Amino acid sequence: MTLAIYDTLAREKRAFVPADPKRVTLYVCGPTVYNYAHIGNARPVVVFDLLFRLLRETYGARAVLYGRNITDVDDKINQAAIDQGVDISAITEKFAAIYNEDMAALGALAPTFQPRATAHIGEMVDMIGQLIEAGHAYPADGHVLFDTASFADYGQLSGRTLDDMIAGARVEVATYKRNPADFVLWKPSKPGEPVWESPWGEGRPGWHIECSAMIEKVLGLPIDIHGGGHDLIFPHHENEIAQSRCAHGGAPFAHYWMHNGFLTMDTEKMSKSLGNVRLVHDLIKEAPGEALRWALLSAHYRAPLDWTGDLIQQSKKSLDRLYGVLQRAGSGELDTEGEVPDTIFAALNDDLATPRAMAELFALAKEVENAPNKGARAVARGRLIAAGRLMGFLQADPNAWFEGQVDEATRKRVESLITARADARAAKDWAEADRIRADLTELGFDILDGPGGTASWRFRDISL
Ligand code: AMP
Ligand code: ZN
Repeated sequence: MTLAIYDTLAREKRAFVPADPKRVTLYVCGPTVYNYAHIGNARPVVVFDLLFRLLRETYGARAVLYGRNITDVDDKINQAAIDQGVDISAITEKFAAIYNEDMAALGALAPTFQPRATAHIGEMVDMIGQLIEAGHAYPADGHVLFDTASFADYGQLSGRTLDDMIAGARVEVATYKRNPADFVLWKPSKPGEPVWESPWGEGRPGWHIECSAMIEKVLGLPIDIHGGGHDLIFPHHENEIAQSRCAHGGAPFAHYWMHNGFLTMDTEKMSKSLGNVRLVHDLIKEAPGEALRWALLSAHYRAPLDWTGDLIQQSKKSLDRLYGVLQRAGSGELDTEGEVPDTIFAALNDDLATPRAMAELFALAKEVENAPNKGARAVARGRLIAAGRLMGFLQADPNAWFEGQVDEATRKRVESLITARADARAAKDWAEADRIRADLTELGFDILDGPGGTASWRFRDISL
């Protein structure tokens, strides 16, 4: 079974064939760390985490190298540092750590490499030097610019012509540019901003060259898959291609390009500039990270995904249903290490068809419920857990999943009822003890009597 990927550059689904199956490389543009990440920022992280997991399952965990950078030099970071009167590293270190914690709460595995732009300025300067040498870049007025007219394939990824770009209002026109579409590789720093030495004067790198240099450094060229949000196709990824190919005589850069669609609220893209953001940091206090992950994967990654309170509730309910099946099917000596079923591979290998894979999880849950005997049930349960593992779901103890949903007040009440029941039993008031047990069962709590009259409780799936 082979993976098919929709390749943005080819504009069609293509069978994925890595250049070297023993060394499969994936790169995704990471965050600019000056603030909390919103749930839209988390969409590419969770989508490409799923791809990372699928590649690891297919080629072996050690064969897959995943790079996701940290952009820690940027105008917005500089502004935040100036506003708060601190060094940029105080901002970037704080928010990089928060970012990693928040993404881990969504079940995202750590990437193999997480290069930081400020640690690779030397490589960026070298690459800019190569581009000038090869006639693809030119210094002007303290800046170094990429000469877009020097690269015939410029615009291929985004499907834009140079004329479109010149007409496009988004391209900044500066007098020192030979062509309005030319973009910055190096620029002077403003007063108070961090500066680095370079042959073209003190300054700092442009954003696009950061990724080109870091990709080459940590993964080596060419890479198999490059990913990111849809908004990065132009100019960021178009420019990465131009830089990386032109620095190496036009050699290939990335064999497959994948882009996730936007997460929206009321059909508008979630973004800091529109002010319609929901921070991951806040959401994980309100709902289990696993339910947020489910919500993020509930639409196909290329389709828009509208973020609503109802989506979170529905996602939690879906997981309640699956964990409920696992809880009722129990665990124990018959637990087997399951194999990921082919139905799950078939769905994910079809350009990460997550809605289909989720439907297959429910089909597997049905198999658990309809199993004719204990042995068959244990096998089916193992398959469901293995399928969940591949997708980053269902790895918690089902009891812990349900217990996590019990609030503090309810927990206290249950515990006092259990004490009351123990007292009734001690007084041999069996009717009262049974009545309390029935009340607790009604609320969804099972009492598990232990040795010597102790009792513990378990919250179960009451969604059925
Ligand atoms: P930024 O911090 O804006 O550079 O975004 C970091 C990553 O999040 C990029 O890959 C963006 O494409 C992605 N991204 C930002 N906003 C959204 C959104 N509303 N939906 C999906 N992806 C997004
Ligand atoms: Zn990038």
